[in-house]
Amino acid sequence: MTYTNFTVDTDADGIALVTWDMPEKSMNVFTEEVMRELDAIVDATVADEKVKGVVFTSGKDSFSGGADITMLQKMLKAFARDKAKDPEKATKALFDNAGYMSGLFRKIETCGKPWVSAINGTCMGGAFELSLACHGRVAADSDRVKMALPEVKIGIFPGAGGTQRVPRLTDQQQALQMLTSGQSLTPKKAKAMGLIHEIAAPASLVEAAKAMIKGGLKPVAPWDEKGFRLPGGQIYSAAGANLWPAAIAILRRETYGNYPAAAAILKCVYEGLLVPFDTGLRIEQRYFTEIMQTKEAAAMIRSLFVSLQELNKGARRPVGEPETKFKKIGVIGAGFMGAGIAYVTAKAGIPVVLIDRDMEAAEKGKAHSQGLVAAAVKKGRSTAEAGERLLSLITPSADYADLDGADLVIEAVFEDSGVKKLATENAEAVLKSSAVFASNTSTIPITALAKNSARPKNFIGIHFFSPVDRMMLVEIILGKKTGDKALATAIDYVRAIKKTPIVVNDTRGFYVNRCVLRYMSEAYKMLIEGVPAPMIENAARAAGMPVGPLALTDETAVDLAQKIMKQTIRDLGEKAVDPAQMQLIDTMVDTHGRFGRKNGKGFYDYPAKPAKKSLWPGLRDLYPQKAADDIDYEELKQRLLVVIALEAVRVMEEGIVTDPREADVGSILAFGFAPFTGGALSYIDSIGAAEFVAIAKRLQKKYGAEFKAPKLLVDMAAKGETFYQRFDPYAGQSKKAA
Ligand code: NAD
Repeated sequence: MTYTNFTVDTDADGIALVTWDMPEKSMNVFTEEVMRELDAIVDATVADEKVKGVVFTSGKDSFSGGADITMLQKMLKAFARDKAKDPEKATKALFDNAGYMSGLFRKIETCGKPWVSAINGTCMGGAFELSLACHGRVAADSDRVKMALPEVKIGIFPGAGGTQRVPRLTDQQQALQMLTSGQSLTPKKAKAMGLIHEIAAPASLVEAAKAMIKGGLKPVAPWDEKGFRLPGGQIYSAAGANLWPAAIAILRRETYGNYPAAAAILKCVYEGLLVPFDTGLRIEQRYFTEIMQTKEAAAMIRSLFVSLQELNKGARRPVGEPETKFKKIGVIGAGFMGAGIAYVTAKAGIPVVLIDRDMEAAEKGKAHSQGLVAAAVKKGRSTAEAGERLLSLITPSADYADLDGADLVIEAVFEDSGVKKLATENAEAVLKSSAVFASNTSTIPITALAKNSARPKNFIGIHFFSPVDRMMLVEIILGKKTGDKALATAIDYVRAIKKTPIVVNDTRGFYVNRCVLRYMSEAYKMLIEGVPAPMIENAARAAGMPVGPLALTDETAVDLAQKIMKQTIRDLGEKAVDPAQMQLIDTMVDTHGRFGRKNGKGFYDYPAKPAKKSLWPGLRDLYPQKAADDIDYEELKQRLLVVIALEAVRVMEEGIVTDPREADVGSILAFGFAPFTGGALSYIDSIGAAEFVAIAKRLQKKYGAEFKAPKLLVDMAAKGETFYQRFDPYAGQSKKAA
């Protein structure tokens, strides 16, 4: 029998080696066809008397990425369509679909012949669940091997036995931690947890797996043996009584009840461990069916998996432009940002020339990379050799002539038009005419800066966020004259450094900072109204934001907020900034010297470690404080999300961002917009435009013009449209296909 996605070779000892290697895919994933073929392989190996056992491995560098998430998305779309006609039938179909993979893995587990999974590389989600259903698991001793059940990160959970097998192999606390965080495990960690049996040298991985079978591996899972006991003790035991109340509290603290999938994991484990294994699988299947129907799962799958992947693959790249393979990149300005840009570029294996005004400053910029490399080696995330290689790619210099031959130059000099003009002219004097010049400016329009360039078609904005090594989003800013080649080159670069690009048209603050400023400014308003600061920060986190708006102001610096406000007044006039907010920030900076985290004093006090930061008590004396009982806490949460979402609508209305995927993914990656909503626009879509306009009107009446619903939204409300309908990112494709 031949298969499209697998080969089966049975050796003289009767061990069938099943190798998963999907044609035309860089990574193996579970599709319907893969599952059908695997099902047939189980039947065939059971029926073949010569076969004594099965070793399952991958023919690619990685083992597998898990389920094909677009398959899940299709399943959900079919469900939504059929539900309208016959909800009971549609739910039953979803339940059956959700259980297919789980049933298949259980079939392997109970087939009567031993199966061993030989894990040679990244093994995610469904692929790890398949491995857990095998009777033996061996992982290669390699940095490439990472094992995880990361489903919770996209609003679902491991629904093919993961919630039942993991806590039957390891103690419940570790199981919960792994399942609710989606953390990756190294072979060493997985073995210590009891999730795999052996670690073998990569070259002898399959041999080691075969040896397990030859050694008499029993084809029975521990939980199918009589007298099986949970490794960490029963649920109703002293250990269980200690663990569960705390686990529920921790989940609440971490998620504020915003992530139904995380809560479902706890339910699956708790309820599943009280019953026999097969009943546990059923419980898991029921919760999985329920979670698949939540708006959080739909929104997170779309934004954090499908859209993110599409953007990472260059969805916005102009068609027909040849791909740039970067041989050399120049970074001008080796300060805070430039040093970080040089690091991420060298980390991607691209040689960088890092220019500053003198050699000392350039060297200092390179030292930043030395620090990051040393830390990575110390934590075991990198090796000394890899670190050396990375550092050897960064050439500090004070001579613009060293930019000769660069395909792309990114300037990160002072935020000053004059200094930037000089940097552009000096660089262009030595650059080849096809080279692209990019500015990392955060406030100066790209169209204005492009006037300094002799080749404005090749001039573009590449806007990083700090800290550069950790922030995954990059805004690519188009000036009026920016050409397709520059855009393609910028996207190629952002992809090369493994970050996510969004394409933004030129405007003050671009996309991200416009939204962030709204978030912070709403918090200032709340302070001025007399809302106690802890309530503001807690409301933000309860609404799903990772960092409160006052903490965020401290991180970016209070005096920077002051500078931005003053510049806005200079550029747009007095009315552009609320005088009460200006006064608050002036008081913080000028009267109290509170600049933010950088001087240890901002909205928070920052004592020496290990003490933790705490809100500055002096905030209470700035404005008469309202009593907590007089404050509508839910409304505080709503204000903070709605004010950002409305700014995202304005950005779409003005044509600054044109693709809802970019607005959504950008809002989550840049400032952590409540990820369970799927992003700022998905948040509105899930509420519905009409309902959202009503909310905005109510808030506008109480709090002011920042809540005025833009015309675009009012129009969408009248037509009953969503953003993904109105700005359908796939419309062009279907037209092209038609
Ligand atoms: P910085 O002051 O830390 O670094 C600027 C560097 O440029 C300094 O090392 C300086 O010596 C060097 N420099 C100045 N003139 C030069 C010249 N003519 N030739 C070569 N080098 C020169 O500033 P930063 O925070 O890294 O900001 C740099 C740019 O990045 C600014 O445009 C800023 O708006 C933008 N930006 C900053 C952030 C942030 O969070 N700091 C975020 C996004 C974008």
